[in-house]
Amino acid sequence: MYLYNSATHKKEEFKTHTPGHVEMYTCGPTVYHFAHIGNLRSYIMEDVLEKYLRYAGYDVNRVMNITDVGHLTSDADEGEDKMVKGAKREHKTVMEIAQFYTDAFFEDCRKLNIKRPDVVQPATGLIDDFIKIVKKLEDTGYAYFAGGNVYFDTSKLGRYYVFNDHDEEDLAVGVREGVEEDTNKRNKNDFVLWFTKSKFEDQALKWDSPWGVGYPGWHIECSGISLKYNGEYLDLHCGGVDNAFPHHTNEIAQSESYLGHPWCPQWFHVHHLNTNDGKMSKSKGEFLTVSLLEEKGYDPLAYRFFCLQSHYRKALVFSWENLDNAQGAYSKLLKKIAALSPADGPVDEAVFQAYKDKFTQQLGNDLNTSMGVTALYDVLKAKTNDATKLAILDSFDQVLSLSLLAKAAELREKAAQTSSSAQGGYTVTGEGDPAIDALVMRRYEAKKAKNFAEADRIRDELKAQGIEITDTKDGASWKRV
Ligand code: AMP
Ligand code: ZN
Repeated sequence: MYLYNSATHKKEEFKTHTPGHVEMYTCGPTVYHFAHIGNLRSYIMEDVLEKYLRYAGYDVNRVMNITDVGHLTSDADEGEDKMVKGAKREHKTVMEIAQFYTDAFFEDCRKLNIKRPDVVQPATGLIDDFIKIVKKLEDTGYAYFAGGNVYFDTSKLGRYYVFNDHDEEDLAVGVREGVEEDTNKRNKNDFVLWFTKSKFEDQALKWDSPWGVGYPGWHIECSGISLKYNGEYLDLHCGGVDNAFPHHTNEIAQSESYLGHPWCPQWFHVHHLNTNDGKMSKSKGEFLTVSLLEEKGYDPLAYRFFCLQSHYRKALVFSWENLDNAQGAYSKLLKKIAALSPADGPVDEAVFQAYKDKFTQQLGNDLNTSMGVTALYDVLKAKTNDATKLAILDSFDQVLSLSLLAKAAELREKAAQTSSSAQGGYTVTGEGDPAIDALVMRRYEAKKAKNFAEADRIRDELKAQGIEITDTKDGASWKRV
């Protein structure tokens, strides 16, 4: 596979520390509110990446954190803890809202066919590990204690700003207008590893530490969780593009200083979902959720389809019109798949393999999901039987996760029900295949028109496909024998 690597700013051949095995880490949600569909764009694309790697034969260990402490309202070390702010908003405890929004997040993921990572770790469950890392950083001179907090000393690094495809505005995050400068910091990009002092003294969750009672900074949690569950060599780190700086830059700084060797060579960043008036943001208060899409009558998988149509490295503009188009295209696609007959077989293994190879190669070019979607239409036009087409579509759907065959089967069933009632009391019951239902109906029409030769011909055609028809008092029923 070739993947764009934001650490080197190049598309490169994907490599792993252990051949055939991928250690993968994903920055998880901050659970102070519902995820918006922008956040979920990142998780959809990361899900496709994970599934693609498995499809291509890798064994994957995917780890994700749940941020339930330490993420302040500014990505620099300023402001109130987002969790505390959320708890106040809802008159609940931090742990109550953490549980509620973690469950809500995984419910959204389920609706969008996003697989749960192998390991999901809330930050509050691993405080001792974070303290151990911070202590070692202090002991080895990478961290200093000032004004009650422990800071990482960025001047100790030969290299910082690994993801320098940011503009100056982003890089100056620590000294932005309106953000008070923290006079304890020796260098402007130093960041807090452990807080015991903050302007907001009502921090709900605090733990004992060598520096006094306090709580961890946001960046240390991802390093700590990854080091515990992915080990010392991470192959692939993922997140939304806004995480690149300062969050990921700081993760690299502290992990490599702690380990004493390079940590993660490959970085995958998903670009933002924007609305016409800018970036979608949770902190702005009003945002689009999966539940809202459902309330408006959209299938969450139409949103997944919408995301797959675009490349993850391009900003994507959301509008209701764009989503309507995606929903329309998705349901048309499902109808076409529903018209394929599983009985039209057997599967042609050579054709199946050729399509699978082409798909693997196309998606393996920097996760080109729009080519993956186009490949579905190519299968529908292929010169092969329906059973082979269905097998190929099912295989592609292991990566795209659009529930293609299950949804098509539902449509067939519905079509079977409506077609039977539409024909003046003649009911065809069968195994949910509209193509077969239609043939049985045509046999009935032929009999009604006293065209017995045609009726017999259709019965023979069905028999050749292994279908047995039984006349019932309301019409006919069929089954595969
Ligand atoms: P948060 O819950 O705020 O920590 O964000 C969860 C994930 O969503 C992070 O990986 C962010 O980088 C990502 N993210 C935030 N906003 C957007 C957006 N508008 N589009 C895509 N991804 C986003
Ligand atoms: Zn992270």
